[in-house]
Amino acid sequence: MTRPLIFSSKPIPGPLDRRGLLVGAAGFGLALTTQRRAFGQPDNPFTLGIASGSPAADGFVLWTRLAPEPLAPDGLGGMTGPADVVWEVATDEAMSQIVRKGVSQAGLADGYSVHVEVAGLAPDRPYWYRFTALGARTGIGRARTLPASGAPAQRAKLVLATCAHWEAGYFSAYRHMADENADLAVFLGDYIYEYSYPLSRNVVRRHDRLTDVTDLAGYRVRYAQQHTDPDLQALHASAPCVAIWDDHEVQNDYAGEWSQNGGTSPEDFLRRRAAAYRAFYENMPLRPTQAPTGPDMLMHGRFDWGRLARFHLLDSRQYRTRQPCPNGKSRRGHVAPDTCPDLADPQRTMLGFEQERWLDQGLASSAAQWNLIAQGVLFAPFVETSKDVTGSFTDSWGGYQAARQRLIGSLVDSRAANPVIFSGDLHAFLTADIRARRNGPVVAREFVATSVTSDGAPDSMVADQKLNPHVRFIDNKVHGYVSADLGHDRMAVRYRAVSDRTDPAADVSTLQSYVVEAARPARRKPSRRHAAESGSTRRSPYDRG
Ligand code: FE
Ligand code: CA
Repeated sequence: MTRPLIFSSKPIPGPLDRRGLLVGAAGFGLALTTQRRAFGQPDNPFTLGIASGSPAADGFVLWTRLAPEPLAPDGLGGMTGPADVVWEVATDEAMSQIVRKGVSQAGLADGYSVHVEVAGLAPDRPYWYRFTALGARTGIGRARTLPASGAPAQRAKLVLATCAHWEAGYFSAYRHMADENADLAVFLGDYIYEYSYPLSRNVVRRHDRLTDVTDLAGYRVRYAQQHTDPDLQALHASAPCVAIWDDHEVQNDYAGEWSQNGGTSPEDFLRRRAAAYRAFYENMPLRPTQAPTGPDMLMHGRFDWGRLARFHLLDSRQYRTRQPCPNGKSRRGHVAPDTCPDLADPQRTMLGFEQERWLDQGLASSAAQWNLIAQGVLFAPFVETSKDVTGSFTDSWGGYQAARQRLIGSLVDSRAANPVIFSGDLHAFLTADIRARRNGPVVAREFVATSVTSDGAPDSMVADQKLNPHVRFIDNKVHGYVSADLGHDRMAVRYRAVSDRTDPAADVSTLQSYVVEAARPARRKPSRRHAAESGSTRRSPYDRG
């Protein structure tokens, strides 16, 4: 049954400028409160904001999740039964020219989220959208379609972020990302944290509960709380997004089916992973084809920004081998010396061999000017000293050195043009040159985003970089995000730092900036061999048609 709409779809008076768009999105709670009283409606169901993502040349996914009581302990947001959610897509930000409209049912199975796949739109342009349900209407969000396949797109503006611990600070970085008017926001992992700080620590705000979340209700509430943040809502309303995950969407330092806790069986851990992946799906603008099956979920994918860039989104958690050379019972990451025999073991993998092959083919078949690899953890070799041990941190690619060498080999052999790696997890900005061998030519550049809020990497990591001559820059003192302006011949990358993570009104400045010149021309078209091979690969969720 479709409920009658309380509000007509007549345009919002007056043109909304960009500020108005954001205020409309972030501030709709207030407006709805007024309308709710006037109409005697139940509570605002749109406390978690709206989002768009999974962009294609002809459409995108629109997301919202109904939750009149976002922190209800059962994870159902105060919903007691299914509800129809009306969605509208317009070509103008006043929503006066509606080109697509439909109804999607939010139900218990998906935690009252909706994932609307909008198709049939024109390529390479913005669209605006909103939802109406239970007598309430959201603010207006901005989505965007990709340039058509093979189109000579000239530019793209990206903002990239990672590691947003709710308790560690306010999300001013997200607010400033929204203000950048980006074409795409990329979440590089640790979008939520499963754990809370101890009571002894002073925090700016508390999670809904102080114990780790381990079950579906717990993860659902954790995402709901995260989504109540007005700065995160403003970011999602401002631009479409794609997201990869790292460990904290499930559990610190997990690897495949292995918990960081030595005493947890894979069977028990996979039960937890299934709950966590389900909540990730429910809370991101992903395609319904990406909904998990038990503990398995297809997260990695690729898509092309015309001929300007191919995005390779990697999953560096689900398929990885256990961390090398464990210390006693714990499987947590630690610094292992080079004598750890596992490090060079070619049987060990970060991506899983199937994803490795898929990535090889995606690189080899790419005709894009840039190949942008978004992945979870520090890729560059990095030698550090911790607890008197000098070596590599086992939870990042330093613990998977043979796999790293294979990927570097693939970057070289594929002749993919201008690879750039964007990474998260480190809680520091870091810039590195990636080489196949010491003193060899630069194969790729790596830019690591610092945390939105999470505590900085230990000072011991940044103290002395004599052993890391390929590391151009490292800073563990600031929080913020990465902004990247992509053009045909060059990409400008800026490290944006917020003034104070404990200040909800923090401002932002540029800490460091780079220009990456396109050094290697894109191939004119994919080689026939690789085009044939890519036909046999597993479908990416971003593949359309
Ligand atoms: Fe993190
Ligand atoms: Ca992490």
